[in-house]
Amino acid sequence: MQLINIKHPSEQVTFREAVRRGLGRDQGLFFPQSFQLLDDVEGLLQEGFVPRSIAVLRHLIGDEISADSLQNIVSSAFDFPLAVPRLEDGTRALELFHGPSLAFKDFGARFMANCLAEFHDGGPMTILTATSGDTGAAVAHAYYGQPGISVVVLYPKGKISPLQEKLFCTLGGNVRTIAVEADFDTCQQMVKQSFDDEEIKRELGLNSANSINIARLVAQVCYYFEAAAAVDDVGKLVFSVPSGNFGNITAGLIARTIGLPYRRVIAATNVNDTVPRFLASGKWDPKATVTTITNAMDISLPNNFPRVLELGERHGLPLADLLSSTSLDDEQTRKAMRQLDGAGYLADPHSALAWKALDQSLEAGEEGVFLCTAHPAKFLEVIEETLGIEIPLPPELEEVKDRDVLSSTIPGTFEALRGELLGSESIELS
Ligand SMILES: *Cc1c(COP(=O)(O)O)cnc(C)c1O
Repeated sequence: MQLINIKHPSEQVTFREAVRRGLGRDQGLFFPQSFQLLDDVEGLLQEGFVPRSIAVLRHLIGDEISADSLQNIVSSAFDFPLAVPRLEDGTRALELFHGPSLAFKDFGARFMANCLAEFHDGGPMTILTATSGDTGAAVAHAYYGQPGISVVVLYPKGKISPLQEKLFCTLGGNVRTIAVEADFDTCQQMVKQSFDDEEIKRELGLNSANSINIARLVAQVCYYFEAAAAVDDVGKLVFSVPSGNFGNITAGLIARTIGLPYRRVIAATNVNDTVPRFLASGKWDPKATVTTITNAMDISLPNNFPRVLELGERHGLPLADLLSSTSLDDEQTRKAMRQLDGAGYLADPHSALAWKALDQSLEAGEEGVFLCTAHPAKFLEVIEETLGIEIPLPPELEEVKDRDVLSSTIPGTFEALRGELLGSESIELS
């Protein structure tokens, strides 16, 4: 797979380099130079999830990874179930939260971790990532205890759910967590800035596990095929994707680009609505980030959106026909949770928001699938408050709920992060 830096198309790298470096020059995102159409989509849809995913990833990545290695990487990364139950109203939920950190981020984080382990040349390596709630846990669990690799996770202090925090800030070992007194956009900016700092890059052997890393995106392409395999007619299929940093939806649009012939896709956001306003007005006008009950999407500078535009501009994807975007507020989200609960389906706030966007938009003759991105128990407080019910904790959360949070706290400046990363002895480099 040849990739270019979107900011500097003359900078070209292989998949291996793109995964290892995370970001190109001037914080430019890597993106494939070209895509080929799959030749037998119908045949692929008949296959099981893991063999189909291996075929899709082989098609995307090419022969940079040997067939045996890819088989091992994919089957150990995707070693948990996914489900596509049909609801009373005829829509389907694509449940992506049955992995170890109970969110869809497990697909990308585990695949990326395995790729990096495959490409790792033995030097020190630090995975630096910012999380709006779920990436942190997925990445931390994917690398926990891996020799030679340190993980540093930044998150906006007080802006993720208490159980989300427990899931990755209580591990210790090679996982270090930093609570930043700022919003997620600032955390993400601090991570990106670290990539421009030669000393940090060298000292730590920096890599990023945010959705800026192409490995995460290609992994996420796979489950769109699983939904397509479940519906009666792919040509009528409409996806609704709860969107924050727009990595998940980029993956869905890549699936379309390589030939999965679904009809259209909805990017559902909360009131942090930079993209819906952009699609309506053509103006890129981010506002201050607002805290909502769908905190994993409290992002006003969606990092992956340039990749979405790239699919339109350079790869011929008809975005105007394919992509729409809706913003919903907390009240609408709570109402959606109650409606779903009434219909016998318990959804986390992000998934409920995506269902509502679908429900508002679906036309006769279309088949809707909404992506369920997190396990409802991760948002216990919101569920109890909204639905007035108590729900049992799955074992993953039961195990960590009484543990101490080990995070340090820093102000939201790059200087503070720099001091924390370089000035401390607690980072193990080997
Ligand atoms: C990360 C996340 C999202 C947003 O996904 P993006 O790829 O950032 O758009 C939505 N829901 C949940 C639960 C998440 O953790």
